Amino acid sequence: GPLKQEDLRNLAELGQGNGGSVMKVEHIPTGIIMAKKIVLIDAKPSVRKQILREIHITHSCNSPFIVSSFGAYILDPNICICMEFMDKGSFDGIYKRIGAIPIDVVGMVAASVLEGLLYLYDVHKIIHRDIKPSNILLNSEGEIKLCDFGVSGELINSIANTFVGTSVYMSPERIQGAEYTVESDIWSLGITLIELAHGRFPFYIDDTDDEPSAQPNHDRERDIPDLLAPPLSPASRRRNRRRSKGVSLQGGSTELSILELLQQIVREPPPRLTSSEREEGKFPKTADDFVDACLIKEQQNRKPPAELLRYAWIEKTLDARVDMKMWAGSV
Ligand code: ADP
Ligand code: MG
Repeated sequence: GPLKQEDLRNLAELGQGNGGSVMKVEHIPTGIIMAKKIVLIDAKPSVRKQILREIHITHSCNSPFIVSSFGAYILDPNICICMEFMDKGSFDGIYKRIGAIPIDVVGMVAASVLEGLLYLYDVHKIIHRDIKPSNILLNSEGEIKLCDFGVSGELINSIANTFVGTSVYMSPERIQGAEYTVESDIWSLGITLIELAHGRFPFYIDDTDDEPSAQPNHDRERDIPDLLAPPLSPASRRRNRRRSKGVSLQGGSTELSILELLQQIVREPPPRLTSSEREEGKFPKTADDFVDACLIKEQQNRKPPAELLRYAWIEKTLDARVDMKMWAGSV
């Protein structure tokens, strides 16, 4: 039968996002543990119904690299989306707990994300649009799965001012307003892999109020609501700068607002996995080659998932048969 709010019992809060929050819940009739995402939407009833229809597409998604869906329902003014619960959480939480992720595991993340993107695009013609560590989940079986993909164009449109998919993981062409393509997701994957392998975001945000540190600020400050708004007045620009604090490019000393960081992504050479001589030899050369391929600035020269799956780093990682179940048990 259809999912009903009355049948769900809240167990714990799993996290807060821009669009809403995620709860761990029990489906009482079946005893199944689920993750329930609550999204506040701003839309007419007819549009809401359309959103629900679109979300139901995820029901037909069946891949070991995609978080499965149990369904969705409207709880005015929210939409609740119930999905498979991933008990080890997302990779941003994992690296913030344990630090840099071992490069073999990062390779498994890359392989899993590529398989997930390939499945979404080849089978359902869906582009993910929001690849980042918090949308890559792990369970104690050692499975790595994608969640929060852009199935619903209507949903994306209705989450006004919550800038879904607008983040510092955006590719240069997206920052410049081009349409999403699978290759835009590949850029976001490249940034994500550097972040996991180093245990910090490659463009870090300086906390100018506190002592200097390389610690990244909390996620929420890396998202940019004003990007979707009309051009900023000088006053709102100052407000924005205060709110988002300063941003430094890796190794650089220039303080930047978040909007300026986005301009830098467009203008400057892309970040690299091995970014200084000091780091030489830390990662396999094949991993550097792979990340370089993800972070080619011109979208038309970036490779699609199927081709990247044939890169040496991915093949070597898969051959090495990393014991992901054991690793998941240790985090
Ligand atoms: P964001 O992805 O921007 O962090 P979300 O609202 O999508 O915001 O998710 C908030 C947090 O909830 C995530 O960071 C993740 O740790 C957790 N989460 C989301 N979906 C699941 C799930 N299916 N299983 C376990 N944890 C989840
Ligand atoms: Mg998410």
